[in-house]
Amino acid sequence: MATQVVQPNAKRERQAAVTLLRDRFGDRVATGEAARQQHANTLTWIANKPPDVVVWPMTTEEVVGIVQLAAEHHLPVIAFGAGTSLEGHVNAPAGGIALDLARMNRILAVRPRDLDCTVESGVTRRQLNEHLRQEGFFFPVDPGTEEATLGGMAATRASGTNAVRYGTMRENVLNVTAVMADGSIVRTSGRARKSAAGYDLTRLLVGSEGTLGIITDVTVRLYGVPETIASAVCPFATTQGACDASIEAIALGLGVARIELLDGVQISAANAYSKLTLKETPTLFVELHGTAAATKEQVSTFEEIARNNGALEFSWAVEQEERRKLWKARHDAFWAVRANWPGKAVLVTDVAVPISRLAQCITETEADIRRCGLLAPIVGHVGDGNFHTIPVFDPDDEQEVAALCGYFERLADRAIAMDGTCSGEHGIGEGKIALLEREMGNGVEIMRQVKRALDPLNILNPGKIFRL
Ligand SMILES: Cc1cc2nc3c(=O)[nH]c(=O)nc-3n(C[C@H](O)[C@H](O)[C@H](O)COP(=O)(O)OP(=O)(O)OC[C@H]3O[C@@H](n4cnc5c(N)ncnc54)[C@H](O)[C@@H]3O)c2cc1C
Repeated sequence: MATQVVQPNAKRERQAAVTLLRDRFGDRVATGEAARQQHANTLTWIANKPPDVVVWPMTTEEVVGIVQLAAEHHLPVIAFGAGTSLEGHVNAPAGGIALDLARMNRILAVRPRDLDCTVESGVTRRQLNEHLRQEGFFFPVDPGTEEATLGGMAATRASGTNAVRYGTMRENVLNVTAVMADGSIVRTSGRARKSAAGYDLTRLLVGSEGTLGIITDVTVRLYGVPETIASAVCPFATTQGACDASIEAIALGLGVARIELLDGVQISAANAYSKLTLKETPTLFVELHGTAAATKEQVSTFEEIARNNGALEFSWAVEQEERRKLWKARHDAFWAVRANWPGKAVLVTDVAVPISRLAQCITETEADIRRCGLLAPIVGHVGDGNFHTIPVFDPDDEQEVAALCGYFERLADRAIAMDGTCSGEHGIGEGKIALLEREMGNGVEIMRQVKRALDPLNILNPGKIFRL
């Protein structure tokens, strides 16, 4: 059976849908230019294509109503969390309805004895952790911006600096409630820590980028705040030394919660932006979690590993304020690059490889950057074999843009050839559709079949992950 697709030019359908939305949701509907543009902000070189209308539901039942209305009028529905995704995920190439979940932001239950909690999908990472702090818990998945929503993080299978110890959204989501394209509501599983009950619908929805269902609540694992947290900054003579030290620390099973590499260019941007005075060489930012005694022992083991791999210095920070300043500088990497090269455009991409190939992948990438004359700081979640590059370029310079496109393709091809992936955490959106084909081959066809089966009208975030 041929797949029907949404009719992007059916102006009458759009107007009828907007009128019905206004009748039902009143001032929770916006059609103004500013609101529509803000909901299509791609944070990439992909041009913003705004939706026709933005609507803010407050309950799962309201989401059902919006999805059913979209199906009746053959309009796309694009779930929107905080719009921090980096591959044009929330763009609306065929217009339609941006379904903004920001007002579904209640923390529904925190269960200390089960170490889990259930939140509506518009709850932000910051909001959840501020709530949990009073109870001595935290939610570790850390996608570089505190404003990301739990629904958006689940939908992009996000991760970040803590993944080396605590895993990604894949490991931390226990279940979701989702509204499917036909308006049915599904809860993907119970809260048991393990289950062998049929297909794993949770993991089907996690990472589906709003193309299979609209997630309205998420149940995630929680963790107790560790007794001791120690952070270190450790400059190296070479990238290879920094990567080798990371690999040894992971292989030894040290309680490493974060291990991040910033190259010399990124450190110079961080120094200027965050008023630091770090050596401008490849540098590891490390954090260990554990009991006071275990952390002390692991700190000295890590120091030995680092020195054996060419660490130039080694300084630890245990005080909260000192650690906060350090990690803020790491989290501000993207903004530091933007501030350091004003007037230039900045992009960020990520790849991941098996950790044993990491040093080779980064050093080949550095050589590539030099060869094509680009400026592209590198920041890596090296404990997971995952790294970002943040090229700075002039979007009006055709030669520079062409060099950049070639560089992105070679970077992804290099990672894929090393049995890695074109995206460790940012996802595919619109930006990496061609690269996913190269990585997955006929796996993409299986994804298409799942999509056709679950969303035969192709209304849920069409034009993302793959073309139908
Ligand atoms: C400076 C910076 C640094 C970043 N660093 C990292 C990083 O280290 N690691 C990382 O993983 N990411 C990183 N990101 C990317 C980003 O923060 C993540 O992709 C985030 O998980 C998206 O959350 P969001 O709420 O903003 O979702 P949005 O951007 O609003 O949406 C993302 C996708 O999910 C879908 N979606 C949103 N909500 C729902 C829902 N309730 N149901 C179904 N689908 C939904 C959307 O349709 C879209 O396809 C970074 C971004 C920035 C700006």
